[in-house]
Amino acid sequence: MTFLPFTRPTIDEETIAAVGDVLRSGWITSGPKVKEFEAKLSEYCGGRPVRAFNSGTATMEVALRLAGIGPGDEVITTPLTWVASAGVILAVGGRPVLVDIDPVTRNIDLDLIEAAVTKKTKAILPVDLAGLPVDRDKLYAIATRHKLRVIEDAAQAFGSHWQGKRIGMLGDFVSFSFHANKNITTGEGGALVLPADIDPALAERLRFQGVTRHPDGGMDVDVLGGKFNLTDIAATIGLGQLKQLEAFTRRRCELALRYFENFDKLAITDLLLPLRDFRNSNWHMYQVLLPTAVDRGAFIAAMKARGIGIGVHYPALHLFSLFRHQGFKEGDFPQAERVGGQTVTLPLFPAMVEADVDRVSCTVADVLKSAA
Ligand SMILES: *Cc1c(COP(=O)(O)O)cnc(C)c1O
Repeated sequence: MTFLPFTRPTIDEETIAAVGDVLRSGWITSGPKVKEFEAKLSEYCGGRPVRAFNSGTATMEVALRLAGIGPGDEVITTPLTWVASAGVILAVGGRPVLVDIDPVTRNIDLDLIEAAVTKKTKAILPVDLAGLPVDRDKLYAIATRHKLRVIEDAAQAFGSHWQGKRIGMLGDFVSFSFHANKNITTGEGGALVLPADIDPALAERLRFQGVTRHPDGGMDVDVLGGKFNLTDIAATIGLGQLKQLEAFTRRRCELALRYFENFDKLAITDLLLPLRDFRNSNWHMYQVLLPTAVDRGAFIAAMKARGIGIGVHYPALHLFSLFRHQGFKEGDFPQAERVGGQTVTLPLFPAMVEADVDRVSCTVADVLKSAA
């Protein structure tokens, strides 16, 4: 039986051929393909300015700098996310202020945000875990009330919607990732949707060593920039992926629906399924919470022995040494700790077939039965 990983990118032959053309063209780093990719992303986001970066992490770091976040500033985010969400706040000298999650959505609990706002709070950095969007109406009402900027970590939400509008069309800063595991990929990469008050040229300088080139061949550097530019090789993969986005998202929804149907039939006691959202989510991941009595490590090993890859997204980040050293401790965010301790990500990617979903569902049931 072939091994089924928890995710795998789908790259079509047309894209592979287009990458070959770029490699033969003599121009492989940032150039015309990046501009074309940015134009297509901007079109996707309703005409808002978009700039591409070489990772979602770099994208968010630049967004924080553009938002004016620096030493002493507090940024509110969730403990149940990839470490980069809080890491970038530290990287610009800010202080991550964590707020527990809502156990239903597994996203930041919006009702707990206002109690965490202080005089030093500058921004909220919400995360759309598994592609399920945070309630944008409620989020922006809070941000407006407290005059906070929002940096949407929409790394997992490319293709998701809020009230019929694509994520990226609305809001303040919106950051996407095109890491190999995301719904569309450039290998590594990211993109930032910019609000109207931010100069895209500054985003470009922060992305590339702060450089402004003059027509006479000279240049100036007026700000400390990074080395965060996307290559034309990567942008070409992204252009090919964008064409498939709708088909990818549709397929993910179909497969997620089949998981629900299977698990409803199997009726496994204490297995907690994700929120059934077929209006907004792009089904970036299908995550279930294991019964408390089940040892996750043993479950993952048993699934692997039966040829199925299982992911963990994510252990609550405040329990990592880096954050414990900042004063966070066990018990600070009980919901995030509980979900982070029991969550497993089942295989879900567009190239899967129904039989794969059925095999995973039955194997989960078998493994849990033998663990009981
Ligand atoms: C993937 C991801 C990132 C980081 O993106 P990279 O492209 O890997 O740097 C940040 N936040 C979340 C929630 C992610 O899933």
